[in-house]
Amino acid sequence: MSDSGRRIVCVCCGVEGPAWPRRLRRACYLRHRYNGRLDAFPLDKAKSLPAYRAGADRAREAYSRLAAERAEEYAFLRSCGESAENAAKRLGISSTTAWRYERAMTTQQSEMAS
Ligand SMILES: [Zn+2]
Repeated sequence: MSDSGRRIVCVCCGVEGPAWPRRLRRACYLRHRYNGRLDAFPLDKAKSLPAYRAGADRAREAYSRLAAERAEEYAFLRSCGESAENAAKRLGISSTTAWRYERAMTTQQSEMAS
């Protein structure tokens, strides 16, 4: 679980923090787990509904399509002689993402060469 994502108001203490399961913030989730009291905070039942899962699947698919297109555009810009930094800026991606695309590109090239 990452701290960088969604933030919530914790159901146990009302303090805002990074979203962890059971609508708890991280500190409370870990405390209740340590004390064996997680059952007092049920999982979000809506998330087990078929419609919710279907929606999440669609969102995941849409995101993968977008990511694949961006990786292709990145490879194209790089093949046109654009620097990694400028290609990342033009696509609005982070340097970490650009680095991952670079790695994917070199992996594909070495697979094609072998
Ligand atoms: Zn709390």
